[in-house]
Amino acid sequence: MGTQSRVVENVPKGIYVAGEWRDASGGGGFWVEDPGTSKRLCQVADGQAEDAASALDAAVDAQTEWAATPPRERGEILRRAWQLMTDRVDDLAMLMTLEMGKSLAESRTEVTYAAEFLRWFSEEAVRIEGRYAEAPAGGSRLLTMKQPVGPCLLITPWNFPLAMGTRKIGPAVAAGCTMVVKPAQLTPLSMLQLAELLAEAGLPPGVLNVVPSSSAGKTVGPLMSDRRLRKVSFTGSTPVGKSLMEQAAQNLLRVSMELGGNAPFLVFGDADLDAAVDGAVIAKMRNNGESCVAANRFHVAEDVAEEFAAKLAEQLGAMKVGHGAEEGTQVGPLIDGDQRDKVTELVDDAVGKGATVATGGSAAAGDGYFFTPTVLTEVPESARILSEEVFGPVAPVTTFGSEEQALALANGTEFGLVAYVYTQDLRRALRVAEGLQTGMVGLNTGMVSNAAAPFGGVKASGFGREGGVEGIAEYLSTKYVAVSMG
Ligand code: ADP
Repeated sequence: MGTQSRVVENVPKGIYVAGEWRDASGGGGFWVEDPGTSKRLCQVADGQAEDAASALDAAVDAQTEWAATPPRERGEILRRAWQLMTDRVDDLAMLMTLEMGKSLAESRTEVTYAAEFLRWFSEEAVRIEGRYAEAPAGGSRLLTMKQPVGPCLLITPWNFPLAMGTRKIGPAVAAGCTMVVKPAQLTPLSMLQLAELLAEAGLPPGVLNVVPSSSAGKTVGPLMSDRRLRKVSFTGSTPVGKSLMEQAAQNLLRVSMELGGNAPFLVFGDADLDAAVDGAVIAKMRNNGESCVAANRFHVAEDVAEEFAAKLAEQLGAMKVGHGAEEGTQVGPLIDGDQRDKVTELVDDAVGKGATVATGGSAAAGDGYFFTPTVLTEVPESARILSEEVFGPVAPVTTFGSEEQALALANGTEFGLVAYVYTQDLRRALRVAEGLQTGMVGLNTGMVSNAAAPFGGVKASGFGREGGVEGIAEYLSTKYVAVSMG
């Protein structure tokens, strides 16, 4: 059996509840497709509302004992899982490439990044602290302690099938929370494989339950009004995030929302232009542009814009497009036909309104959902691609005159996840970083993701932070005890 069929064959394909794999109630399944061939890979159990309810039952049953498990033990489970992921990077990467499309090299990078959240939070598990203080007026004492928030619902998207999971699962496990995970319909396999791996690392039954489903709203919606659920953490689109916020209001759930972005990439006239182009390639092309932190629009100082666009077009134009598992592929397919249609529509809209195609500009040949890396110049302000998240390998370039104008362009969006800034002037760098309405800034770098850093946005990009010391706080609540010394 080839590696590809072996890794697909080996994945458990059921619903994972209380440490056991089951069929979906009703026995149905849904197909998972390889976006690089548009062919079916395998079927996965199609979780229903009853399955989600059983998963929450299991999480609730496991909560008390799990919260009482020593932090070191929780941390060591995560650390063992990090080790297992690291040992199995090749198989996990192949599985991810098959269901999601990204190149094997990118999948390997994601497996490592995803595993890093487990290692980081294995270290945070033993640093959950409270404080003890004398009341200002003397006499009494103020004692605080951090406790797990309780059973969580974790909903993840398809673009980073493992990393978006581990950066929720890692801190939840470290904090002592139990959970129900709902992976994306398009990419459930990596998460199912991860569930098995976490069990092997020693995670007790019921702590993590996984419910794949082809109808997310119907399946996990009822959990949102179940009083036993205490938190929802969601990564996905802003409209779904808003709907979940509304549902979360019923029981005043703790909420973390990592939603859409529309990242500006600013290049000032004093920037190291070659470094800016290299950073732009990473910020644009990582994950084929299918990332909420992907640079969505490039605003470049007038005097360097032409050179920047030409160099960017040269690099993007030279990238090899192909099936993610093929040797040498740099750009895999988009996730599905809808996504390819949307990218095509946004490019056609810009070109129709007067933009110039410097390279690419259309879907690419092949059985999968390929789109040629594209650079557009002279993109008019009215082009939809400047205000909508493209989620594809398309770089629209526009120009600015002054620093004020650059900031106004960057902030002229409802989103506020990340912005990239290239300049060699320290004072300008700090001024602009302070002025940007985003949760993150990449300063002379096209990559901000790091398990040790607080990832998250402001405005319509959501709130809450994942990763860093902030990441575990999302899964803890503070209890204050007033102590009389009288
Ligand atoms: P994307 O555009 O990345 O697919 P979505 O917001 O549609 O973004 O999906 C992100 C995750 O949210 C997926 O796991 C999806 O199944 C889930 N999801 C979609 N709609 C709902 C919903 N109404 N309730 C709960 N989860 C949902």
